[in-house]
Amino acid sequence: MTPVVTAFGAQIPQIGLGTWQLQGDILHAAVMAAADAGYRHFDTAPRYENEAELGAALRATGLPRDSYFLTTKVWYTDLSAAALLASAHASLERLGVEAVDLLLIHWPSPTVPVAETIEALVEARDRGYARNIGVSNFPKALMNRAQELSSAPLIANQCEYHPRLDQSDLIAACQNEGRAFVSYAPIGSGQLLADPTVTQIAAACGKSQAQVLLRWHLQQGVVAIPRSSNPARVRENIEITDFSLSPQDMARLSALADNDGRMYNPAWVKGWE
Ligand code: NAP
Repeated sequence: MTPVVTAFGAQIPQIGLGTWQLQGDILHAAVMAAADAGYRHFDTAPRYENEAELGAALRATGLPRDSYFLTTKVWYTDLSAAALLASAHASLERLGVEAVDLLLIHWPSPTVPVAETIEALVEARDRGYARNIGVSNFPKALMNRAQELSSAPLIANQCEYHPRLDQSDLIAACQNEGRAFVSYAPIGSGQLLADPTVTQIAAACGKSQAQVLLRWHLQQGVVAIPRSSNPARVRENIEITDFSLSPQDMARLSALADNDGRMYNPAWVKGWE
């Protein structure tokens, strides 16, 4: 069993399957392997254009709907009230579920006032489209502003995180409020696998580099959503509860942070605080 993070009563398995760029037979095989290996958390978005395939794969696993945590998002161009509600409803139709466990704003809008978006997000929750709501790619000040505007808890902020990117301030801000921090690109989109420090620690632990990186997330009480198109690596990524990293190894990994560590900096982002 993967440990869970509890946020405002929601139980979020600490390792989830990221599904960006996974489609067709590859997605299907990854989901089947994940379910078999014990994953009970799946992350998608309309932008990934795989919600219908993910829904079908999840049904094929035979997992009861209430046994897994399902997240989808609303793309940043759909953050007016009407567009957000339509997007959330369309996701449910594609996924073939009555509600998702978590509905996130994928990226802040450069144009629509956050108050309008948050009101619509709460409305989506009130309509039963989502059991919980949250944000993604929200810097601290905007996250706090969004929570002030929301009559329901924003239970998670999903952001890029791996040893190259220091997110300690944002993680503390989330955890102090009882909000889950969800790490995307937790193994640095694959770019940290050849790092000498990671490799050395992995050899000493008798684990793979990916397992060491994911264990580093687990020990910080954050949720991580690694993606793999390879069923064996999908399994490997959840087999991380039978070892632990020493405080020294945790610190060595955190010391890899540098100012250019951000890997996702798309054109529509106005700037990070
Ligand atoms: P990631 O999970 O850090 O890395 C994925 C890469 O690592 C793939 O190239 C994969 O290749 C490789 N990999 C995975 N497990 C491995 C293993 N055990 N050994 C060796 N290589 C391994 O990066 P990500 O996909 O960018 O992020 C994960 C998820 O976060 C996404 O799928 C998505 O669900 C979410 N995400 C959210 C946002 C957002 O804006 N909210 C942005 C980006 C991502 P193979 O497929 O060949 O194994």
